[in-house]
Amino acid sequence: MAPVIEIEGLRKQYPRHFRGRRRGPIVAIDGLDLSVPEGGVFGFLGPNGSGKTTTIRCVLGLVRPTSGRMRLFGADVPRGLPAAIRSVGSIVESPAFFPTMTARENLRLLAGIDGIPNTRVDAVLERVGLAGRAGDLVRRYSLGMKQRLGLAAALLKDPALVMLDEPANGLDPSGIRETRELLRDLGAEGRTVFVSSHLLAEVEHTCDRVAILSRGRCVAAGTVDELLDRHHHEMIVRVDDLALGAASLGRAGMAAERRDGHLLVRVAPGDAARVTEALAADRIWVSELRPVEHSLEERFLELTASDPDPDPERHIERDVEAVPA
Ligand code: ADP
Repeated sequence: MAPVIEIEGLRKQYPRHFRGRRRGPIVAIDGLDLSVPEGGVFGFLGPNGSGKTTTIRCVLGLVRPTSGRMRLFGADVPRGLPAAIRSVGSIVESPAFFPTMTARENLRLLAGIDGIPNTRVDAVLERVGLAGRAGDLVRRYSLGMKQRLGLAAALLKDPALVMLDEPANGLDPSGIRETRELLRDLGAEGRTVFVSSHLLAEVEHTCDRVAILSRGRCVAAGTVDELLDRHHHEMIVRVDDLALGAASLGRAGMAAERRDGHLLVRVAPGDAARVTEALAADRIWVSELRPVEHSLEERFLELTASDPDPDPERHIERDVEAVPA
């Protein structure tokens, strides 16, 4: 099955002006490669300013990349976008609704534009848990409810791909929890949910796969387990005599460092048995053997440690581009 989103060597730079003078460009995306398979929740993670929004905007044809290739459902972007976009529901910026209209009226208006029947409006309101408040004016909605209404709007066309940029921004913990559950459900029913976030904790338990972005590049991608497993080749080994243990492991080709009361051994993932085998051959008995647990949070911080704060000049002169038809 072809990936739902494929990105190769994507680059986007923005001209930078300061006090009316042109400076070197801002490189928002720096040769990004990314492949999003069909189905499930895909977390697009990175600190603020790492290029998440720009990437999403490029894929949706809202910003023209400087170079690189993108495909959506196998169709080249932007050429094949008019057809492919029919299967995409997205929220990139806070969606605008008419505050003096009810939620249902707002959605009916949107549905009408796309020729979607009104029955679908009630189905999506139900889906996001707003059925009971569908007749309320949007201006009475809380931020969390507006976010859910945005998601309802994105679901109107029953999209195979849902793209959400930082959906938890501004939500309280219960709002975050509800969004998380909804995204998980959408992913579980076979849709592909692509969700960006700078908060790892928000997506760690929601996502099937993640990609970590740093300075406009993908620095790690895979299932959450895969990302963590790479670090599991550090084992804590407890033996009575640390010096003898370290020497024994050294002879077997495994580097062991002496730490406070234990040895730290680096082995290939799944190679724990070699540790016990080598020590047992020297009649050294292991009282504890366990992998050093790293959280995804640690991994994320480690991978993105070099990220600077978002460009301090970003608000001075931003160019907002339109993509030619
Ligand atoms: P993220 O979504 O990860 O926070 P963005 O894609 O918004 O990151 O931004 C990546 C970089 O590109 C930042 O340095 C930002 O200041 C810059 N940038 C984004 N949009 C524009 C724009 N329209 N004009 C100039 N610089 C921009």
